[in-house]
Amino acid sequence: MTPRLLDVAATRIGTEALGPGMRSVVWVQGCPFRCPGCMSPDWIPERPARRADARELAAELLVDPVVDGLTFSGGEPMLQAAGLAEVARLARERRDVSLVCFTGYRIERLRARPPTPGVPELLAAVDVLVDGRYVAALDDGRGLRGSTNQRVHHLTSRLADCGYDFAGRPRTAEIAVNGPEALLIGVPPPGLLAAFDTAVDTVRGHTGTEGSTHHER
Ligand code: SF4
Repeated sequence: MTPRLLDVAATRIGTEALGPGMRSVVWVQGCPFRCPGCMSPDWIPERPARRADARELAAELLVDPVVDGLTFSGGEPMLQAAGLAEVARLARERRDVSLVCFTGYRIERLRARPPTPGVPELLAAVDVLVDGRYVAALDDGRGLRGSTNQRVHHLTSRLADCGYDFAGRPRTAEIAVNGPEALLIGVPPPGLLAAFDTAVDTVRGHTGTEGSTHHER
């Protein structure tokens, strides 16, 4: 059987900024929503990015033995739901990881009219789903979601009593630098995104480099 390929914008192995515990993250390329103020505009276009098969990705995400959870974000994970469901399934064959997933779709829409065939399979694997588009005017600076219209759905009980306040916790973010690329990981506290962009622009100006930046929930 031909392996299922995903279009991956970025991965991060081991972060505490996108859910409880130590997590590995997949950000997929491509999103249909184009929310004004999106934290990751480079990842909105549905263009070829890194092509990775699910088995390769699952192995990569678990390469650090302290990782106990996965987070899927983007971009729009539900457009690559079948591949991501396969990543979750293969990862769980190796380790009992929890799964947090962001989506711009409402869960009602996902259940009534799945935008891609793999959505039911992915929803069945997700422990916590954060749904809805980002609305800058409703960004209250709190929680593991960008704006207050976005909802946190505990689809299983796994992370319901872990003490992690998805909706109201103070925000944290991490910055990872890899060669010419800087990655802002997490839902940033107020002001951090602008400060990050200014810092990167300043560094580029001083060094004359053409590096790229990405930032993401
Ligand atoms: S905020 Fe999320 S849903 Fe909105 S355009 Fe950006 S990636 Fe897509």
